[in-house]
Formats: sequence, C-alpha cells, structure tokens
Amino acid sequence: MILSSDKWIGAHVSAAGGVHNAPLNARDIGANAFALFTKNQRQWKAKPLLNADIAAFRERCGELGFTADRILPHNSYLINPGHPEKAGIEKSREALLDEMRRCEQLGIPQLNIHPGSHLRQISESECLSRIAETVNIMLDQTRGVTVVLENTAGQGSNLGHRFEHLAEIIDQVEDRSRVGFCIDTCHAHAAGYDLTTPEGYSQAMEEADRIVGLSMLRGLHLNDAKSELGSRVDRHAPLGKGTMGREPFRLIMNDDRLNRLPMILETTEPDNWADEIVWLRSLVD
Ligand SMILES: [Zn+2]
Ligand SMILES: [Zn+2]
Repeated sequence: MILSSDKWIGAHVSAAGGVHNAPLNARDIGANAFALFTKNQRQWKAKPLLNADIAAFRERCGELGFTADRILPHNSYLINPGHPEKAGIEKSREALLDEMRRCEQLGIPQLNIHPGSHLRQISESECLSRIAETVNIMLDQTRGVTVVLENTAGQGSNLGHRFEHLAEIIDQVEDRSRVGFCIDTCHAHAAGYDLTTPEGYSQAMEEADRIVGLSMLRGLHLNDAKSELGSRVDRHAPLGKGTMGREPFRLIMNDDRLNRLPMILETTEPDNWADEIVWLRSLVD
C-alpha cells in the first residue's frame, strides 16, 4: 500500500521577490515538495543571495515541512554544460558554479540541470565527456550538493534524451555519490519512451534501472506533452490534457519505487497546479 505522505508532489513555483517566497507559494498550492530557480533564469549574472533571504528560506522550509530532499532547484536555461567552444563552456561553468553555491547556501542538497548541447560542432561522445568534466568541476568546487541530470526531449542538438547518454556522463564522474538523474515525463515521451501503457511504462523503467540505476533517481518532472511520442519536440501540457493522457500518471502514483522523491509539475497553467496535485493524489489505488 502506498501512503499519500510518501508521495512528494509539488510544482516549479515562483521565487519572485526572493527565494524565501518559494516555500510559501508551494504551500499555497498544497504541495509537499517544490522546485525553484535560485536566480533569474534568463540572466547570466545575479546578485548574491542576501543573508536575510537565506535565513528566511531555511526558516520557512522548516516551518512548512519542506525538508531539503523535497526541494529540487532547476538551473538556468542559458547554461550549456557541454558547450563546444572555450568561451561558451567557461561562461556556462562559471554560472553553474554560482548556482551550485546558492544551493549550498540554502542548504539544498541537489541541483537539476539540463545536460547540454553539442551545437553540431562536436560529436555526441565528446559533448558527453565535456558535460562529465563540468560535473567533476562542480563537485570539486562545492560540498554537499548533488548534480541531477535531467533527461531531455532531444530537441535540436540537446543530449540527454537517451538513458545511455546519462549513463555515459555518470560513468565519467569521479564522485558517484554526488551525481544522479531526474525523469521528465514529457521529455521521455518526446524522446520515444512510451509511458502510456503498463507495458511501455515497465519497459522504460526497466531500461532506466538497467542503464542508469534507479538508486540514482533523485526526482521526477510530471508533465503531459503537446507533442507526439518520439517527436523530439519539447512542449509541456497540463496533466491528462495532452498526448500522454491519464495512464502514465496513474502508473507513477502507484509505483512505490518513486516514493519519497520530489515530483515536480512544470505544466503550463500554474492556476491549475493545486487541482493537478489533488488529481494526482486521487490516482493512488
Ligand atoms: Zn528542465
Ligand atoms: Zn523538466
């Protein structure tokens, strides 16, 4: 039997006005987990976090029951940890290190990142090695923060749409205790993993386990898709309203391998998040 309290469900909430607002926004939608950006995701540079905001963030998370393992921050979309050019990779590593340090300051033990893009300038395996090198640098320069590699839709030249890509990166990471992965359901669907039937779902999870290892799974992003299976197009949809439908989410909610992991909505209508959380909870048998 699955206890509802073992399902940690939230959304990627706004941190407008300061990171300390994110736990309040999460509480307001009935979440018991959340994601946030620790800085403006559209800008390379950000002012350092204020000590007062850090203290308020920690205090509110404590009061509201958001233990650190329920919080899965997301990195800026500008960062390309596999950038093929010298200037580009240096800029990305500098910005990612800043985000890792922000997590350290906030007491958050993990940071979700998009693996990276080869921009058609280097081979897939060269790009995966570059990403692993970025992860190694991040882990060397920080303490207590795990890098969580998100599977992607494989749009454009983005890598990370095959579990094999994630495994190839992880294989080259020196400290395996501080690297993990995250499954985004929309991205998996767009990448060709069919989660819409019990058989397809079992097969995808078996592959994730065999190729990467479910012991390294640190969270999920729960999104329906506007795009078709295998389309390699990244378009999120509200749960149950896209091309994936209800079944993948019913299977996830009843999969006890996914207990006590942050499961984060990144769906397109924030006004529906509270209802989506209630709906997900209703799917537990
Ligand atoms: Zn993402
Ligand atoms: Zn995602």
